[in-house]
Amino acid sequence: MTSPRPEPLTPLALPDPDATGAWLRARTDDGLAEARAIVERLRAEPPADALAALEQWDAVTRALSNVAAAGSLLGNVHPDEAVRDEGDRAEQEVDKLATELSQDRALHDTFAALDPSGLDGEAARLLERTLRDFRRAGVDRDDATRARIAELNDRLTELDQTFSRTIRDDVRSIRVAPDRLGGMPQDWLDARPAGDDGLVTITTDYPDVVPVRTFCHDAEVRHDITVQFLERGWPQNDAVLRELFALRHERAERVGHADWPSYDAEVKMIGSGPAIPAFIDRIADAAREPAERDVATVLARLQQDRPDADALTSADVAYYEELVRKEQLDVDAQLVRTYFEFPKVRQGLLEVTGRLFGLHYEPVPDAPVWAPDVTAYDVTSTVDGSPVGRIYLDLHPREGKYGHAAQFTLVDGVAGQQLPEGVLVCNFSRGLMEHDHVVTLFHEFGHLVHHVLGGHGRWARFAGVATEWDFVEAPSQMLEEWAWDAEILRSFATNAAGEPIPADLVARMRAADDFGKGTAARVQMFYAAMSYYFHAERPDDLTARMVELQGKYSPLRWIDGTHMFASFGHLGGYSSAYYTYMWSLVIAKDLFSAFDPTDLFDPEVAGRYRDRILAPGGAKDAADLVEDFLGRPYTFDAYAAWLASAG
Ligand SMILES: [Zn+2]
Repeated sequence: MTSPRPEPLTPLALPDPDATGAWLRARTDDGLAEARAIVERLRAEPPADALAALEQWDAVTRALSNVAAAGSLLGNVHPDEAVRDEGDRAEQEVDKLATELSQDRALHDTFAALDPSGLDGEAARLLERTLRDFRRAGVDRDDATRARIAELNDRLTELDQTFSRTIRDDVRSIRVAPDRLGGMPQDWLDARPAGDDGLVTITTDYPDVVPVRTFCHDAEVRHDITVQFLERGWPQNDAVLRELFALRHERAERVGHADWPSYDAEVKMIGSGPAIPAFIDRIADAAREPAERDVATVLARLQQDRPDADALTSADVAYYEELVRKEQLDVDAQLVRTYFEFPKVRQGLLEVTGRLFGLHYEPVPDAPVWAPDVTAYDVTSTVDGSPVGRIYLDLHPREGKYGHAAQFTLVDGVAGQQLPEGVLVCNFSRGLMEHDHVVTLFHEFGHLVHHVLGGHGRWARFAGVATEWDFVEAPSQMLEEWAWDAEILRSFATNAAGEPIPADLVARMRAADDFGKGTAARVQMFYAAMSYYFHAERPDDLTARMVELQGKYSPLRWIDGTHMFASFGHLGGYSSAYYTYMWSLVIAKDLFSAFDPTDLFDPEVAGRYRDRILAPGGAKDAADLVEDFLGRPYTFDAYAAWLASAG
């Protein structure tokens, strides 16, 4: 018997920009109604067959993800504010329903009663994950515990918001005479004229504080603004954080975990709470000598100006690292830019990734888009021409648009149901680009290609980038390497005269970028240690514990009397898992070690990477994906070698 040939999937038809509000409202209403109807059926007639129950549950996941994705995207990019508000509302409604479902005792009991014995590996894993979600939400606990968990969740949300808002609102400033601002770029000075009293105001906002700490010759100005910067959120956030850590601990204990880091790590690649400090110490050890080497170089340069200086602090490190880069590594940023014209970079990105992953990008000039300079492409396989998905590139700034760089999902791909569609949202200039931005473009495209290639599995729950949080940056960090390869850059980085970027310039750019990597790694481990130990130990005196950890991990000396943790915003979102950035970098270096540095397009390695790392999406544990690709478990070796290499 043959089954009927399935209809080829077609991309979602977006409306014209004027009709988007109504379209989004309809998509939201329909999606939520569909999810509720399936849930009603699940409650009314719970299927005894495990596979049937999982299929219905995954249809709920898919319906909710379709609403949340369109809402989140349009809420962040649509030029019309009313549509953006509509998008935010759609997301909130999905959140509300998802929370309600995660606490639904009847649903939990239905899934807990299923017999998994007939399920294949992936379906069994989906059932196990579904039950884990319910357990982590505390659905299986007694009524009093569930009521307390609901109370804790509400209070934790409040504390998290108060913590971030306090940092955001606490903008401090210093006032200095213009003649103390030697070294600052002219356009920066022009934008900050002196007030009536002849003084210039410098605030703790990033566009002020970052350039001053990097370029200002006056050490006292750097010191004063750095102290103000480190004091944001102090003293208010001290009490907020202590309550936050205490309640997170209770939240974890109420669902059977020893502490918050263990609860949080259960769903991550690192796996367990105690594995976090072990990882931190391992990286800190690997970075010890490289950091000592960096500090010796930078301190020697500082001592030319201040012979009695015996340590580096965060008030001097950025300035002197920049000076060493300029004096010893000779990279002219103005010259570098002339090789990166936006249209050539975009074309180069598509050619490089198309060749690497066996993809063809076909422009769809008549596809409706939300703003005039957004471009749509249909993605097909170069092997058999089959449809792989659709991508949109929205790469330039626009009033009211999301201000950073990120990949947004439009549709999560599910085999036989819907094609994956993703959007790159960035804010690059239309003319010449900084090389940093070229690297960012490759990074974000790494997420996009992961989303699209990973959107052909059976389950919405595992679609695209639905992998562990501490792994999800590894594929995008690895793709950055293609934006640093001299041979690859030659293919698209050409100046107005058509001359490709010289290999020796690329080598110096790389050396300049690598310089300070040892210091940076140890500073990052200081932050990661705060994030872990504050949650694991919940110390009464956060300042004292911070000073201790800084002394142990950071090569930068504590500036007396400062309380940096009070403005360490990642204690909110990352909680005890600030290690994740470094973790995925370690994995990215390990993945990259499989490629031949003299032939980054080797089709065998690239194909294996595509099929074993990206295509499965979240259908397997990340550690297994990495082992499937490398043919061995992941190791620290490639990262340690990179860190140890003189940069
Ligand atoms: Zn990323």
